Amino acid sequence: MPGTPTDLARFARIGIRREHDLLLHLPLRYEDLTRVVPIGSIRGGSQVQVEGDVVRSEVVARGRRTLQVDLSDGTGTIGLRFFHFYGTQLKQLTVGARIRASGEARGGLFGMEIVHPQYRVVGESTPLPTRLTPVYPTAAGIGQGMLRAAIGKALRTVALDDTVPPDCPGVRGLPGLRQALALLHAPAPDVDRVALEERSHPAWLRVIFEELLAQQLSLRRARAARADREAAPLRDRALVDRLLKALPFALTGAQRRAWDEVAHDLCARQPMNRLLQGDVGSGKTVIAALAAAQAIGSGTQAALMAPTELLAEQHLRKLAPWMQALGVRVDWLSGSLKESGKRTIRAAAAAGEIDLLIGTHALIEDSVEFARLGLVIVDEQHRFGVAQRLALRGKGQLSPHQLMMSATPIPRTLAMTYYADLDVSVIDELPPGRTPVVTRLVSQGRRAELIERVRAAAQAGRQIYWVCPLIEESEALDLQTAIDTFEVLSQELAPLRVGLLHGRMPAAEKQHVMDGFVRGEIQLLVATTVIEVGVDVPNASLMVIEHAERFGLAQLHQLRGRVGRGAAESACVLLYRAPLSPTARERLTVMHETTDGFEIARRDLMLRGPGEFLGARQSGVPLLRFADLERDAALVEAARACAARMLRDMPDQADRHMERWFGGREEFLRA
Ligand code: ADP
Ligand code: MG
Repeated sequence: MPGTPTDLARFARIGIRREHDLLLHLPLRYEDLTRVVPIGSIRGGSQVQVEGDVVRSEVVARGRRTLQVDLSDGTGTIGLRFFHFYGTQLKQLTVGARIRASGEARGGLFGMEIVHPQYRVVGESTPLPTRLTPVYPTAAGIGQGMLRAAIGKALRTVALDDTVPPDCPGVRGLPGLRQALALLHAPAPDVDRVALEERSHPAWLRVIFEELLAQQLSLRRARAARADREAAPLRDRALVDRLLKALPFALTGAQRRAWDEVAHDLCARQPMNRLLQGDVGSGKTVIAALAAAQAIGSGTQAALMAPTELLAEQHLRKLAPWMQALGVRVDWLSGSLKESGKRTIRAAAAAGEIDLLIGTHALIEDSVEFARLGLVIVDEQHRFGVAQRLALRGKGQLSPHQLMMSATPIPRTLAMTYYADLDVSVIDELPPGRTPVVTRLVSQGRRAELIERVRAAAQAGRQIYWVCPLIEESEALDLQTAIDTFEVLSQELAPLRVGLLHGRMPAAEKQHVMDGFVRGEIQLLVATTVIEVGVDVPNASLMVIEHAERFGLAQLHQLRGRVGRGAAESACVLLYRAPLSPTARERLTVMHETTDGFEIARRDLMLRGPGEFLGARQSGVPLLRFADLERDAALVEAARACAARMLRDMPDQADRHMERWFGGREEFLRA
C-alpha cells in the first residue's frame, strides 16, 4: 500500500484499504496517449495529444490571471491555457521547453487551444506509452499519477489465484481474474473500446461475474444468520398517542399507512428491518419521531443517524421540541463536539440517561454504548455505507429494530435484490398545501438575463440557492468551482448578501452560514451538493443549478426538493451549456416534465440501468460497483447457482472469495 498515514487515509476514502482493493479499483475511462497528432491537423472538439516546443509563455493579467503558452511542432501552433498555475509550472513551461500535452482541443478566438491540458516535459526521444492510460475515480489529494503507480505496483506484486471453480458455467470462455484485471488497467490501444465502455468485454464479464458471485454468497450467508436474531418487542403506545395529539398537523393517508406498518413491526420479537421511502418533502421525519416515541415509551433508547452534520442538526432542531414536550431526554453527538463533550454524551447514553440520541457518523465512530438501544433510525440511508449502519445495530444484547429512510426512490425489486429481505414502506403523497415547483431550462447564453431575474427575486424578498457544478473526478475542483462561483456572483449581484456553503468547511462555519440563510440574512446561498439532502428552508423559493447537464436525475430531483417547501410559488432553473448529449437532453427534459420522484426514478432507471442507479455517488459504499442487475441478468443467474455449489462443497474457498471482494466486510449485504 502507498506511503504515509495521510495517503492511507485518503485511499480509504475511495474504498481502498488493502492491496487487493487497488486491483479492484477500475478505470472510469481511458485516454489514448500512445499517439501524437500533428498540430496542423487538429480540428476542434476532439481529444488530442500534441508535442512541440514552447514558442511563447506569458502570464496575462486582464481580468483573471491566466498563463498562456503557445506550442509549435512545425505543422502549426496551439495554445495551452491555465487559469490556475503554480510557480513550478511557470518554470517548466518556458520558451524552448519541449512539451507533450493532451486534452480537449477547442477552436478559440485566437485559434486552437487546450484549456488546462495534462502535460509533461519531454526530451527528443521520450517514448510514448504503449498502452491506453486509465483514468480512475478519485478524491482530493490523490492524483491520477499516484493511483496509477500504486495500482501498477499491486498488479506486479499481489498474488491473485482464482477462487471461482473453472468449470463454473459463469466463467466459461472468460479470462482468469488476474488476466482480466491486467487488461482493464492497461489495455492495448487496439482493444475493442466500445466493448470496454459497455462493459461487455470478456475481461469485464469476468470481473462482473466475480462481483455478483460475492454478492450471492453474502446474501445466502446473511439470510441464514438473520433468522436467529432477536429484538425487544416495543408495544407501549402511550407516548405515541400523546405525540400524535401534539402535532400541528394530521398525518396524510400515506403517512398513516407507513406508520401502521412501522408500529406493527416494532411490536415483534424479530428486529424490524424496514426502509421508509418517500419523496423529498413527503414527511418522513414525523414517522421517525413516532417510531422513536414508541421505542422510548416502551422503555428503550433510540438513535437517529444522519449522513451530514447539517442534516443531523436539522433533525435535532425539528425533533427536539416535539420530543422534549413529551418529557423525552434528547441529546446530540457529532464529530465536531469537543472530546470532553463527547465523553459526557457517551457516559449518559451508557447510563441510559439519554432517550433519543441524534447525530452523525460519530454515533458509530465514537463507539457509543447504549444501556438499552431499542431502535436505530438511519436517515438518507443510501448515503451510508452498510458497514456503518451495521456498526450501530451491533451494540447491546438484543438487536435493535432498524428503520431506514430514503428519498431516493429505489424501485422495489431493486431494493429487494440489494437489501435482501428488507421490508419497504412508501409515502406516495405530499402533505397538503404545497405549490409545485416550476422548472425552467436556460442555456448559458442567457446567463446575464438570469442574473437579473435572481436580483429581482432577491429584491422581492425571496431567497435563492445557487448550486455549483459537480466535477466527477475531483473533490478539490468541486470546491474550487464553488469558491470561484461565489466570488463571481458576489460581484455580479452586489449589493446582495451572498453566502457560501461547501462540504469542506468546518462544521461551526457551515452552521453559521446555514443559520444566516435560515434567518434571511443571506439572500443568495452558493452551495455545492452538500445541500442535496434534507436541508429545509421554506423561504427559499428559487434554485439555480449550474451545469445541470452534469448531474444525474436522482441528484437533480433531490436538489430541486430544497425549494417548494413553503407556500410561495417556487422555481428551479436548470442552467446548461449547449450542446447537450442525447442523455443529458433527456434528463433535463424529464426534470422539466415531472416533479414526481417515482416517475423520475423510473425514467432514470431506463436511462442508466440499475447498476449505476445505485452507483457510488448515491450509496456511499456501493454494494455492486461493476455489475448491472438488468444488463447482467444472465450472469446473476449463473452466480446464484455457483454460490449455492461453493457454499455446499467448498466453504473455505467461498470465504476467500467474499474476503477478496468485501474485505472481511461481508456483513455489508446483511443490512
Ligand atoms: P422529508 O420526507 O423530505 O424528510 P420532512 O419530514 O422534512 O420531509 O417534511 C417536510 C415538511 O412537511 C416539514 O416541514 C414537515 O413538518 C411537514 N409535514 C410533514 N407531514 C405533514 C402533514 N401531514 N401535514 C402538513 N405538513 C407536514
Ligand atoms: Mg428528511
